[in-house]
Amino acid sequence: MTSSSRVTLKPGDTIGILGGGQLGRMLALAAARLGLKTQVFSPDPDSPAFDVVKNATCAEYADVEALELFASDVDVITYEFENIPSSTAMILAARRPVLPDPKVLETTQDRFAEKNFITKLGIATARYADVSSAQGLKAAIAQIGLPAVLKTRRFGYDGKGQVVVREGADPEAVWADLETRSAILEAFVPFEREISVVAARSASGEVVCYDVTENEHRDHILKFSHAPARISDDLAAQARAIAEKIATALDYVGVLAVEMFVVPGKDGLALLVNEIAPRVHNSGHWTLDGASVSQFEQHVRAIAGWPLAHPVRHGDVTMTNLIGDDILDYGKWLTRPGATVHLYGKGAPRPGRKMGHVTEVKAPQAK
Ligand code: AMP
Repeated sequence: MTSSSRVTLKPGDTIGILGGGQLGRMLALAAARLGLKTQVFSPDPDSPAFDVVKNATCAEYADVEALELFASDVDVITYEFENIPSSTAMILAARRPVLPDPKVLETTQDRFAEKNFITKLGIATARYADVSSAQGLKAAIAQIGLPAVLKTRRFGYDGKGQVVVREGADPEAVWADLETRSAILEAFVPFEREISVVAARSASGEVVCYDVTENEHRDHILKFSHAPARISDDLAAQARAIAEKIATALDYVGVLAVEMFVVPGKDGLALLVNEIAPRVHNSGHWTLDGASVSQFEQHVRAIAGWPLAHPVRHGDVTMTNLIGDDILDYGKWLTRPGATVHLYGKGAPRPGRKMGHVTEVKAPQAK
């Protein structure tokens, strides 16, 4: 069987999930509500997703025997993070359908390939240049200008693997500090706000987008999401059209998120795509309590070959991430009227670690 095979699961079938973090955990919970079983594969024995599944595989992503056994236990395989080694994906895809198709990862694991892909679709991004040496950084600075953001091509997240390069910086020192061999330099974007579109695409090509979300970061980590974003209907429609174009061009099956910057343009506001996340996304957590069907269920439906939902939003929604020591205040959130608390069951609250989140829905006023 190959990953391009059409999948139609029945209740009682099993979804394999690569990755055992909070996203895998919430996917497993959503699958359970639809009568589907899940088996999580993760090398970390303390994976939060292990707590909510009957079957767990705790093994390294390079463990071929464990991967083969895992594949034989499940009916379809999906993933909760984008840095799946390509060899792991190949072993699994030879045995069971893997959705979204792992070829998507070749584009989304590498910031340079991703930006080239987006640009070829005629979608705007910040200006960027490939950098592979201190000399190359000097040339890129001459081309892009300063300030700019230097980002590793691979494995960056939550602001890790990136640094702002300002006027007067020493390119040799900046390059040495990033400790990478391949990076991109992006023009610094003076954005008005950051938004994202969480979209689902089915195997038959239907695309359903949630209302555009507005995101606020603290120290490069998402802190608040608000739905709907405070942008015009026209700009929101443009944002959804961009996400749909990307999902379709990737022949994507499942939920993905497209992060964008809202910037002043020639005729009002314009959009620049920052990043594609080929998975359920933190900026879609509001859908758990703020919409009739969550992003997690929507992803499960897509990879199960079931009809996508057309989710209804219940009101104006705010999602607050509980990061690091924020978790110590969980008692405060539990008593807050209207708040729904999600705790991920993680151990130590290290700085920057996502420990849980809270959603608050302000119901629309009766007319
Ligand atoms: P990323 O890992 O690319 O999603 O970046 C994390 C965060 O850093 C973004 O959500 C922005 O807040 C900020 N950021 C990333 N790239 C740029 C840029 N080119 N200009 C300004 N801010 C940026």
